[in-house]
Amino acid sequence: MGPLTTISILVALLAGLAAGKAWERYKLRDGRWIDRRRARESPHYMLGLNFLVADQIDPAIEELSKAAEAAGDALEIHLILGNLYREKGQVGRAIQEHQALLQRPHLRKLEHANVLLCLGLDYKQGGFVDRAMEAFTEVLRLDPGNAYALANLEKLYEEQHQWSDAYATRQKLVAAAPETEKPRHQRILAFLEDALGEEARKRGDHAAAAVRFDAAIELDPANTPAYLNLGDTRYERGDAAGAIAAWEALVSAAPDRAYLAFSRLETAYATGGDSGRFPAMCRRLIHENPQEWRARLALARHLSTRQAPEEALELLFEALVINPHALALHQAIWETLSIRDFAQPLVVRYIDLTRASVFYLDPHVCVRCRYRSTELLWHCPHCHEWDSFVEERIAPAKNDDALA
Ligand SMILES: [Zn+2]
Repeated sequence: MGPLTTISILVALLAGLAAGKAWERYKLRDGRWIDRRRARESPHYMLGLNFLVADQIDPAIEELSKAAEAAGDALEIHLILGNLYREKGQVGRAIQEHQALLQRPHLRKLEHANVLLCLGLDYKQGGFVDRAMEAFTEVLRLDPGNAYALANLEKLYEEQHQWSDAYATRQKLVAAAPETEKPRHQRILAFLEDALGEEARKRGDHAAAAVRFDAAIELDPANTPAYLNLGDTRYERGDAAGAIAAWEALVSAAPDRAYLAFSRLETAYATGGDSGRFPAMCRRLIHENPQEWRARLALARHLSTRQAPEEALELLFEALVINPHALALHQAIWETLSIRDFAQPLVVRYIDLTRASVFYLDPHVCVRCRYRSTELLWHCPHCHEWDSFVEERIAPAKNDDALA
């Protein structure tokens, strides 16, 4: 059983607990507390929870079913049971279980909302997107600040590429979030602004696109795709100076992702006739951060096509010590070695440097779901999280002072 399943079970439990809270009110008003206590006192209830914690779903279902029966079909337990069927992939059964709860008379508002929330998760799991959206929307009508419903609804909008609906939903989450959580929400809003900008750009509305990209940068000054897209939009409209300004702003705001603007800047500088500007920028980045292997790679490529293969090769060897697993470096080295007709001492140095290397073809990995990708992605195609990719690296083959 994977980590996702465990998380979903926790969600199932939390939804059950939330329903329990609603139930507490119920008991106070109508004296129905006996049912709940009977459920809690049933050995089947505790056994069921123990199986849940141990990730053993089938025996958990069996015990909780008995507990539900002993407690006069307690709503809380049926909610959890439905969620467990969903976990097992029995979506139809889960929907049945949850729908039956909706038929009960005298459902309190929060109970109703919790049942609908679980039903929405069933529909989502079953791929019934419209019905899931309806259910979550209804939850929000009953319980406007419900963060689970908002978060699930937003993900559905994102999956459908309904960016403005996703944006509006995320704004509601921001409004309800504690102060410490707000920066995270701001960062996600910035990605959604960027997505809205790309949408505007695709329909040819460059002015609206630029406004969106600017807004994204305003929300999060480190939002990399907004700088790239803003520059691309300006470049397409013939504003090379504006494009360069946007890409250079990325280099300053997020130096670790500056490399994404390298080839754009190299081309734009060259078109403007300023051939010294690109190598100067690379040298400045290397000076500011001695571990900058990508700036070394970019500078080496630049130099090797301009009759300076010796300096290029030195830069590549330095970069290789920093990151021996980068395939791009090895390719660049072979190209440069071929320009030098594979001079034997150079080849020997290369072999020495690579002896301890392991090669990685897909070094970017989603920290949330472990999805792997050859390129850096902003939005995980598997779990739909924003900005969740990190570059996986094994420690350099030699220690850092090999560079000194
Ligand atoms: Zn993911």
